[in-house]
Amino acid sequence: MRIKSQIILSMVSAAALIGLVGGVAIYTQIATTRLLGLTEATAVARELADTIVFKASDGAPSLFERPDALREFLEHQHHSSRRDFLILDRNKVLLAHAADEAHPVGVQYDHDAGNEVGKTLQDGVPRRFIDPHEINDILAVPIEYPEGTIIGAVLLEYDPLLRDAERRANDTLWLVGLSAAAAILVAAGLAWMLLRRFGAGLSDMMGGMESLAKGDAMTRINHTRKDEFGQLAHGFNTMAGELESSRAQLVAQKAYIEDIVQTAAEGIAVLDGDGRIASVNPAAAAMLGRRADKIEGQEWGSVMTMRDARGGEFAAGTSPVALALTTGRQQQSEVRLTKSDGSHVPVIASCSPLSGPDGGLVLTLSDISELRRAEGVVNERAEQLAVLNRELHEKSETTTRLVKLGELLQACVTFPEAFSVVGTAMAEFLGGLSGTVHLTSASRNLVEEMAHWGDVRSSAAQFAPEDCWALRRGQEHVAGPGMLTPRCAHITENGGKGYVCMPLAAQGETLGILHLCEPNAAEKPQWLAERQQILRGVVDTLALALANLRLRETLRQQSIRDPNTGLFNRRYLEETGSRELRRVERSAQPLVVIMLDVDHFKQFNDTFGHEAGDLVLKQVAATLLEHARDSDVVSRYGGEEFALVMPGSSVEEGAGRAEVLRQAIRQLHLTHRGRTLGTVTASFGVAAYPEHGAGWAELTNAADHALYEAKGQGRDRVIVAPSAPGERLQLVSPQKRGRDA
Ligand code: GH3
Ligand code: MG
Ligand code: MG
Repeated sequence: MRIKSQIILSMVSAAALIGLVGGVAIYTQIATTRLLGLTEATAVARELADTIVFKASDGAPSLFERPDALREFLEHQHHSSRRDFLILDRNKVLLAHAADEAHPVGVQYDHDAGNEVGKTLQDGVPRRFIDPHEINDILAVPIEYPEGTIIGAVLLEYDPLLRDAERRANDTLWLVGLSAAAAILVAAGLAWMLLRRFGAGLSDMMGGMESLAKGDAMTRINHTRKDEFGQLAHGFNTMAGELESSRAQLVAQKAYIEDIVQTAAEGIAVLDGDGRIASVNPAAAAMLGRRADKIEGQEWGSVMTMRDARGGEFAAGTSPVALALTTGRQQQSEVRLTKSDGSHVPVIASCSPLSGPDGGLVLTLSDISELRRAEGVVNERAEQLAVLNRELHEKSETTTRLVKLGELLQACVTFPEAFSVVGTAMAEFLGGLSGTVHLTSASRNLVEEMAHWGDVRSSAAQFAPEDCWALRRGQEHVAGPGMLTPRCAHITENGGKGYVCMPLAAQGETLGILHLCEPNAAEKPQWLAERQQILRGVVDTLALALANLRLRETLRQQSIRDPNTGLFNRRYLEETGSRELRRVERSAQPLVVIMLDVDHFKQFNDTFGHEAGDLVLKQVAATLLEHARDSDVVSRYGGEEFALVMPGSSVEEGAGRAEVLRQAIRQLHLTHRGRTLGTVTASFGVAAYPEHGAGWAELTNAADHALYEAKGQGRDRVIVAPSAPGERLQLVSPQKRGRDA
């Protein structure tokens, strides 16, 4: 119920209540008035009765007993009180009355229809009744004399008294009624005024509230009134003011947050509880390749194609968005968004469920393309680095192996040793490929195989240098299936295999070639490229090692050979002779030392010149070599003196060989610059192990002594050293013996 209606109802209720109370008061007043009238009338009647029956002490009869006096008395009473009285005797007969002509004295009273007077005369109880003739209220009161004996009754007209009382009461009631009415009117007026004020205040308040409710925080209520509404309006205005400032703050905050969201580099989308996109920021729209207003309001799955980080499809309900929507828990994972143009964007998708009753979530998309790109670059670099590292490692390994090969080769003293190393090491070095090393002979007209490794033989063992393109051109030559380059003539198969010939060049000289063959070159086009580096290393190392060996050999030869005759020199002879002597000692074999000296050599020099002398020495040396076995050591002992060591030969064999040599030298016919040099002869001394000594010095001494003896005995002869002290030297050469003899 509205307050206004309630106030009106309250006012009406109050008026009704006042009316009711007034009614009750009036009724009570009337009843009280009647009672008072009756009491007053009864008192008057009793007083009259007492006065009537009063007897003076002198014994004069009472008024009751004197009818004339009684009538006078009553008339007097009537004049003074304006009331009618009737006095009845015991028998209800009228004794006297005052101003009442309707009832004649001496006649029985009969205006009491219910015999109320008779009853009062009987029981002495005052009664009231209505005289039907005069329509008056009459009161009958008994007259007792002496006390307790009813001798008659007084009838009193009770109406005037009652009317008096009632008039008075009515006056009071009128006063009360009018006052109540006036009070109601005043109250109604006040209430009306109150209602007007209340209504105006209330309507101001309600107007303000309604405006506020409609969102107008600028609304204000006039608060010039000094009443409670004024205070309320003031309070309202304060509240509206605060609301306005809060709203302004909120608007500012919202604008700030919106600005952040709109300008954020991360894509931000708000989804409602049904998975529809409530809003997206430009970054999110850009990541999806769509316009924001085309996305908003759509179901997320219809505008967002989300795959896992590797591009695989999510099983139904397992994408982070679907999980966050169904579980209400935060989800974060890397996903791949497919743009409207079909391109992909790797993003970190974070779903933060909203705490509101309608659910929903905030989806944040962080583009990690750059990160992935950077990662890609880093990985690529790492891979490149790994490749470089591997290559470096391989190179280092290759270098180490090459160094080892170099060391091994450098450690080799002879060519056969070096080629043995090459034969075993190359297969490993060159990845199991077969190959050969060919060296060009000293004469430079033949190229010979020196080492071979692997199962395949693809080159002839010997060939002319012009048969190899690598030797001809002095550079690497590759041929194989699908290649236009000519095949070398030394290649023994007809084109199925691939091969390379690489010149072994060092110190400005080409020593030979390294030949390598790949039987499956057609299937492995990279066979050479992948070994190129190590191959170069091997070739260089090998060439250098071989050149060194050759150089070393040359130096060695130079150090042990006599350059004029090409024979071993005395130093070599002594080293070898001692070694050979120990060797024959161990194997219990004999050994012969032959010393020879050209006779009268000085004359050749003096007669034909030094050059001719050299020629003689060369020819003698050649003769010695001609007759020597492989195991013999032929040397120039010094000047025109030569020495021969024959391991395994006995003293007889030695003497025989000396004799053969003597004759052979003698047979030499030498000419120098067109001049005949004449006969060359030489003297020989022979000593042997074990007959002439166990040591090298003893043997050479013995041989030297024998030679000296041969000189002494006339030259051009062979003398064997004495096998025991004191024994004569033994002459071998027969013709000498004959000549000497
Ligand atoms: P004999 O029969 O006693 O051995 O007499 P001989 O002349 O052979 O001996 P001698 O020791 O008197 O002379 C040796 C000469 O040999 C002296 C030296 O000039 C010469 N001679 C030494 N070495 C060479 C050489 O390499 N070439 C030449 N042309 N002469 C040399
Ligand atoms: Mg001599
Ligand atoms: Mg000499």
